[in-house]
Amino acid sequence: MSRFDFDLITLGAGSGGVRASRMAGKYGAKVAVIESSRIGGTCVMRGCVPKKLLVMGAHFGEALDDALGFGWSVEGATHDWSKLIAAKDKELDRLEVAYRNLLSNAGNTLVEGRGVLADAHTVEVNGKRLTAAKILIATGGWPVVPDIPGRELMITSNEALDLQQRPQRIVIFGGGYIALEFAGIFRALGSEVHLVFRADQVLRGFDADVRAHMQSELAKKGMTLYAGRKIISVAKAASEYTVVLDNGTTLAADAVMCATGRAPNTSGLGLKETGVRMNERGAVVVDGWSGTTVQNIFALGDVTDRINLTPVAINEGRMFAETQFNKNPMRMEYNLVASAVFSQPPVCVVGLSEEDARKTHDVAIFRTSFRPMVHTLSGRDQRTMMKLVVDKKSDRVLGCHMVGDDAPEIIQGLAVALKAGATKAQFDATVGIHPTAAEEFVTMREPINTPTPGGETA
Ligand code: NDP
Repeated sequence: MSRFDFDLITLGAGSGGVRASRMAGKYGAKVAVIESSRIGGTCVMRGCVPKKLLVMGAHFGEALDDALGFGWSVEGATHDWSKLIAAKDKELDRLEVAYRNLLSNAGNTLVEGRGVLADAHTVEVNGKRLTAAKILIATGGWPVVPDIPGRELMITSNEALDLQQRPQRIVIFGGGYIALEFAGIFRALGSEVHLVFRADQVLRGFDADVRAHMQSELAKKGMTLYAGRKIISVAKAASEYTVVLDNGTTLAADAVMCATGRAPNTSGLGLKETGVRMNERGAVVVDGWSGTTVQNIFALGDVTDRINLTPVAINEGRMFAETQFNKNPMRMEYNLVASAVFSQPPVCVVGLSEEDARKTHDVAIFRTSFRPMVHTLSGRDQRTMMKLVVDKKSDRVLGCHMVGDDAPEIIQGLAVALKAGATKAQFDATVGIHPTAAEEFVTMREPINTPTPGGETA
């Protein structure tokens, strides 16, 4: 008989925690999962899933406009925001039930409440103490709102997904994933969108061509961009918000959204007191096995601030369960993880940006920009950009980048090719599917003139 109540206690029923717990249960472990909010976590309840439903809902607006060029008449089409939110909420309710069933079918015990570590083997929840041989911290992250006057007046992605009315004018602070995704949703549904970001360009960390192309597409959508700017205060009078930027510009809006990053959920969990080390950002420090500085305590997903993407957390959870409960040691590989921004148009990349590749490789760059076929008749001024970064020495494709419709659907397949070590010659030997946008990835023949390491143009 174990001296503990459980083999594993997991804090957090998000994507990573649920996957780890279900698999541990399948391998015979007695598992308790503790969750203080909705079952399913950020991705399912407050992130990827509801966001994508709203992105899809918003995109129909453009599709209807585009249909005119193909002979359709769509006069009188209107959009009802509250119906979209209600439909989305119904789907989230269905998913929450499905997640509860997944846990119970795996034999896991779900405890709803806030769990806090009392010691390395004990968690306090709802006034009770539960013990376990191993503890998994999978508590995710939470939006960060800068400390400026009126910060409490700003909504974050959490609230933006539940607004009862679509704001006619919205100011969005930030130029990353969440800012661009919500800017696209509100703009496509007809809101006036003001995007304020502190860098010269949106999407820091992405390839420079992606950033420049995306920024021009955002402007073409009719958003107003405030590059190199910060919000310094927000005030509200009656139902109108007044936003002041650091250059003195004043904006009036019906809502102000903050999308300036997320931070790991580690405060008040008893981690420090138990000896679990955290870094300066508050993320739990882990090794390649998701092990913390306390031998029987593990952590995965956004709370560890490695690559903050749902599929990464799910894989970390799977590998943790294999390693700890199935005698099958597995470690996560963090290279070539594709990532998408579901903006309008979407962005997707796998592998290295040109800038990062140049740090370690002599590279050839292939790039194309074109008007997608659908817009030859729709008349929409939208261009797709694709780019390949190739190592000259080995001919391996190091990075694939795309801004344009269906980019995430296309890049997913290319991620497999890059994982398999595909060379540019193999891309060239692949016959395209015509007429598609995707075929451009296998028909880019000539490298563009690019600076050599010496700074001259090749
Ligand atoms: P990001 O890190 O993508 O973007 C944060 C933005 O806020 C950047 O533009 C950044 O500017 C700016 N910023 C940060 N701090 C400040 C500050 N103090 N003042 C002003 N501006 C600031 O964060 P998100 O919140 O958009 O998303 C968090 C993470 O969640 C993402 O990085 C991603 O890992 C994940 N995510 C993934 C999605 C997907 O897969 N589709 C969707 C949504 C989120 P700067 O560029 O100058 O640093």
